[in-house]
Amino acid sequence: MSVALTLPTLSSRTHCPYCAFQCGVIMDNEGESEAMRVTGDPHFPVNNGQLCIKGWTSSALIRHPRRLTTPLMRDASGQLSPTSWDEALDFIAEKMIAIRDQYGADANGVFGSGALTNEKTYLLGKFARLALGTANIDYNGRYCMSSAAGGANRAFGIDRGMPFPVSDIEKAEAILLVGGNVADTLPPIMQWFMRQKQRGGKFMVVDPRKTMTAREADLHLPIVPGSDLALANGLLYIAIEENLIDRPYIDTRTNGFDAVRQVVLNYSPSMVERITGIGENMMRRVVRWLAQASSAMILTARGAEQHSKGVDTVTAWINLALALGKVGKPASGFGTLTGQGNGQGGREHGQKADQLPGYRLIEVDAHREAVAKVWGVDPASLPRKGKSAFELLDALGPTGGIRSLFVMGSNVAVASPHASRIGERLRSLDLLVVCDAFQNETSTHAHVVLPVYQWAEEEGTLTNLEGRVIHRRPVAYPPRNVRSDLDIMRELADRLGHGEKFAFHSPAEVFEEFRRATAGGVADYSGITYARLDREDGVFWPCPSEDHPGTPRLFQDRFQHADGRAKMTAVEHRAAGEEPDDAYPLWFTTGRYKEHYNSGAQTRFVDRLDKLKPSAKLTIHPQLAKRHGIVNGSRVTVESRRGRAEFVAEVDASIRVDTLFAPFHYGGTQCANVLTGTALDPISRMPEFKVSAVRIVNVRPGA
Ligand code: SF4
Repeated sequence: MSVALTLPTLSSRTHCPYCAFQCGVIMDNEGESEAMRVTGDPHFPVNNGQLCIKGWTSSALIRHPRRLTTPLMRDASGQLSPTSWDEALDFIAEKMIAIRDQYGADANGVFGSGALTNEKTYLLGKFARLALGTANIDYNGRYCMSSAAGGANRAFGIDRGMPFPVSDIEKAEAILLVGGNVADTLPPIMQWFMRQKQRGGKFMVVDPRKTMTAREADLHLPIVPGSDLALANGLLYIAIEENLIDRPYIDTRTNGFDAVRQVVLNYSPSMVERITGIGENMMRRVVRWLAQASSAMILTARGAEQHSKGVDTVTAWINLALALGKVGKPASGFGTLTGQGNGQGGREHGQKADQLPGYRLIEVDAHREAVAKVWGVDPASLPRKGKSAFELLDALGPTGGIRSLFVMGSNVAVASPHASRIGERLRSLDLLVVCDAFQNETSTHAHVVLPVYQWAEEEGTLTNLEGRVIHRRPVAYPPRNVRSDLDIMRELADRLGHGEKFAFHSPAEVFEEFRRATAGGVADYSGITYARLDREDGVFWPCPSEDHPGTPRLFQDRFQHADGRAKMTAVEHRAAGEEPDDAYPLWFTTGRYKEHYNSGAQTRFVDRLDKLKPSAKLTIHPQLAKRHGIVNGSRVTVESRRGRAEFVAEVDASIRVDTLFAPFHYGGTQCANVLTGTALDPISRMPEFKVSAVRIVNVRPGA
């Protein structure tokens, strides 16, 4: 008989369910029948009381009529029908055991999410390695942060997205933001950029579109999609030529500059202008503003990172920040703006194919020993590195060999590149289990759907884009027959014969073991307690002991490589996995609306957001639109080598004339990821979401 976790005491302060800004929110808990009211927490020092429209409307999810409230299982007719927890869990465990016995442990796959709390991230990694014994676990953060992580680890020896608090932004004299539309994706962060501008700072934005963020910039660089790396090398060329680099800093704090110098001296302004579309005068202005400012930041986001050369692109921007001597100085440095709610913690604690808790690596013997000791197992029993997210999904079914998939908090059918192929793979599974609060495009393929607590109902920790660990507090009780993901893992582990390793009855109990498992790792959380998080409004990792103050700023004295120096690596521009040609002559790039979050699996259930943005619009330049007879509201079919999607046209001069844009929040015929390709970064295995080659194949009048 299953036993759910004990219900916690409710609070009124918690954090938004969505993005990595993790705004503090205050919920009033007025009664079962009324919708809860949500306001920004004025005392949380990251959002200072501000929220975006997703945050204001987030309480609509809590008592939502379409909330999943009972386990569902396919019946004899193939329909998903209500069932009991015991029946569902018994069925899953029996199938997993049968698959393991017939095809081997790696035939059971696990897929996690950057939205999971640290406690769930940690336990999911442990569940995969111990209870299932499979190497094949990865998560959707691979689609989000892996290139930023690869670049930062290579250069700094550590990957913390922003190595300084968000409040440093307002003090920077110059900021270059590359490939991020934060005014739409995390609007409350704009308060820090606006204050920076009010203090006289320069704000520059690199983006193929004149986004809401680019409109606020002193300088907008409308770059050709996929050419950010060439631009970064070109800017470094100018910095060297104009003697604007910081030679003493390079000599004392970095390695590798000479090799970088040799490569970037091939990136003359005229050559870079041909690749990027950015004029020489503009490039020189950017370099001078950055170099001559006493404090300057370079920040990247998905526009620069979601490429088959994402790690090298991040590396090129870090090279520039290091050569200008900015990293580790006050209100200066390089940072990357994490996307998902726990995009930072989610990539540190073991749900990634190559990773163990504390940002340890599964292929390093000392790391395996440290974690195995906490888990009380033989290090040799831990599986080795498994497949990365797209490769794992592409290996589903009889051909690839992964026969079951256990999905926690990820809508892979919409979020993955070449989405139609991933849909086929999901349908070919012997067992697909989805744990979620609402039905989505992935769970419709499932054999079993397990209804779980959602954000407002659960306790746990998340790590925001600054590296600040925060405490998510429960503000509402879940529906009666819904379970915590932690509870599900305990119940399944028990049925798989490993119950003693998963006997946790609260998130706090998981957190205590998690702290021990991170001790001594790069991402050391061992000094963090729930009480500290409440008292201090979050604690920045690393925090190796309870009397350690945490680490808001990294790199002031040293980098994390053994010799304390940053490592510069020479990188070259190269073509995207697929470039426009005669058959598919246009660039296609994807992004977000301010009204929706990722695959839309939550926000499409919020009436107000759905009314504001019910469908995907295709942004197209007026000149290109005219050539195709497209006007505002036309229905346009766009085709790549992988499939077709249909959008409603939005004619807008904010985009380059050779580029189309659509959001990736929608499924079905509007699924932008049906068009995106399967090229992967060789280091991070990041898919190339930001550039595909497409053509317009059909135009019909609007409805
Ligand atoms: S979605 Fe992000 S920016 Fe908007 S309220 Fe939530 S945490 Fe804040």
